[in-house]
Amino acid sequence: MSFRPRKQFGQHWLKNQQVLDQIIISAQLNKLDRVLEIGPGLGVLTERIFPYVDKLLAVEIDRDLCKKLVAKYGKIDNFLLLEGDFLELNLPEMLQSFPNFNNFNKVVANIPYNITGPIIEKLLGRISKPAEKPLDSIVLLVQKEVGDRLVATPNNKVYGALTVKVQYLADCEIVCDVPARDFYPKPKVDSVVVKITPRNVENPAHNPKFLDSLIKQGFASRRKMLKNNLKPVIEPEKLTEILTELGINDQARAENLSLREWINLSNHLDKVTS
Ligand code: SAH
Repeated sequence: MSFRPRKQFGQHWLKNQQVLDQIIISAQLNKLDRVLEIGPGLGVLTERIFPYVDKLLAVEIDRDLCKKLVAKYGKIDNFLLLEGDFLELNLPEMLQSFPNFNNFNKVVANIPYNITGPIIEKLLGRISKPAEKPLDSIVLLVQKEVGDRLVATPNNKVYGALTVKVQYLADCEIVCDVPARDFYPKPKVDSVVVKITPRNVENPAHNPKFLDSLIKQGFASRRKMLKNNLKPVIEPEKLTEILTELGINDQARAENLSLREWINLSNHLDKVTS
């Protein structure tokens, strides 16, 4: 290995060819796709993407890696590399000078785990402000615990605020498990490949901003019942009435409510509290 992986940028090279195959297959790439890759590293995923797609835009934070990538793939005309922090870059603005690479419709990435949440939020938006042009799909390598949370169903320990917020905006599925030994250097945690497919939720919340904060409040303390977590929003007795009306057990905790129940609750509470 001619490049020493840097810890501060979460660099772990994926070395399992079958996992790389699975990532490519699940992204269902075609010749019209304009793909964004975040954190190409040494390019193991990168070089598998550009043969299949119209354009590939990659964003890499590490200057030395960028030099390597340019030396390796700089001549490929459907490939554009931007150096910078994906979370900080204003892509629409930067891409004004590269209109061919604008409007990407898919994301494929093996990202650093410490910024998974902010990356997902930047790609999907929030309940109160979804991405203006939803992507067709996002295929990501994430820490197993995060993947489990994204696909969790109610009444499950790992079903949390992240679950509800992401599932409001997208369908999530686990593509495959990726054990720590499939990376160099070996990380401390196992991983999974997830596919996130943005879509509009049926019968959306009347007040998405309110729903967003309700979820946050509701999950504030996992051991507490919803009634107690939501005390700052509504009196417990009043909430009991509303929960009963909605067919939800008044002893429920946040993790017991389905996405639909969160939306219903938000619509009801918004009416009585505003
Ligand atoms: N995709 C490669 C590398 C994965 S490691 C592979 O599968 O082997 C994560 C990569 O993300 C590294 O190359 C790291 O330098 C890059 N990276 C880390 N933080 C980043 C950020 N904020 N923006 C863009 N790239 C980042």
